[in-house]
Amino acid sequence: MQFKGFVGNADVKEQLSSLVDSGRMPHALLIEGPSGSGRRTLARIAAQAAVCSHPDRTARPCGTCSHCIKAQAGTHPDISFFGGSERARSFSIKTVRELREEGYRRPNEAECRVFVLVNAQAMGTEAQDALLRIIEEPPRHLRFILTCQSRFQLLETIRSRTFALAVKGVTEAEAMPFLRQKFPSAAEQELQTLVRLYGGCLGQIEQALTDGKWKDGLQLAPAIAEALLASGEMALLKETSALPKDAVLIAGVLRELRFLFRDALAVKCGRQERLAPSPETADKLAAALTAQHLVSLIDTVAALETMQRYNINHSLFVTEMCARLRTAIGR
Ligand SMILES: [Zn+2]
Repeated sequence: MQFKGFVGNADVKEQLSSLVDSGRMPHALLIEGPSGSGRRTLARIAAQAAVCSHPDRTARPCGTCSHCIKAQAGTHPDISFFGGSERARSFSIKTVRELREEGYRRPNEAECRVFVLVNAQAMGTEAQDALLRIIEEPPRHLRFILTCQSRFQLLETIRSRTFALAVKGVTEAEAMPFLRQKFPSAAEQELQTLVRLYGGCLGQIEQALTDGKWKDGLQLAPAIAEALLASGEMALLKETSALPKDAVLIAGVLRELRFLFRDALAVKCGRQERLAPSPETADKLAAALTAQHLVSLIDTVAALETMQRYNINHSLFVTEMCARLRTAIGR
């Protein structure tokens, strides 16, 4: 199988290739991963591979057969996309009923039909139950590709009937050639910072380079760290309430905070290396806090990072974050 345009994620490529190359493409794939990690890109490639008519399976999708050309243009009659919004319950039971009806029709041109269900986590329980009725006993010609943030947002009955692939942000070494080519005028250091801030989620990085919002996120980590040193909790509450609602950006801010506390600990130990781009803040933290406090802060941020992955309510998360950071330094 070929993965043109899908960067990194060697393990996912290997798993999917081993299935497709031997003609054992599962009837339902579940692609999970954070926003901007390439779920939809991989879904498109897998859908194209399913309809491609190249005789050598390892060369699929070939990009040149009539099926591939239509798939790339978004006009293949046997590839359909449903859903898309991340908003809860926006993937309605009505849409599921329609796709179920459509799914029993024979393919138009290819050997199979492919239904891509984008942001399947936006289905409520009812809609998922309705989907289950076709996923558990699908017509032979039908393939499903579901994308979601986390497989655990779906019912166990759906999960157990799909083959899950976990897409992740890519490493700096994997991201840089792609970004340099796509954004030739961006500064090298800016690109490196973005790869770190967005955990290698290329879709988010591309968006960030276009809208520039990430700069707030980058300034927020040192602002939160310095507010922690203030006497009352007002300063900290003020800075954390500026946390964006975007989950990937929150993860980026938390990562920067962890780097900052690690830098401060390095200063305490007389070491020179710096991970975060705010050395003055690291120096202030090192001067004001004990090594024990800094270790405790690093652990706290790691715990917050885990908590944040479970999509908890935003204002609850901000409150919890303030309380835990203050507790970590004995306040
Ligand atoms: Zn092809």
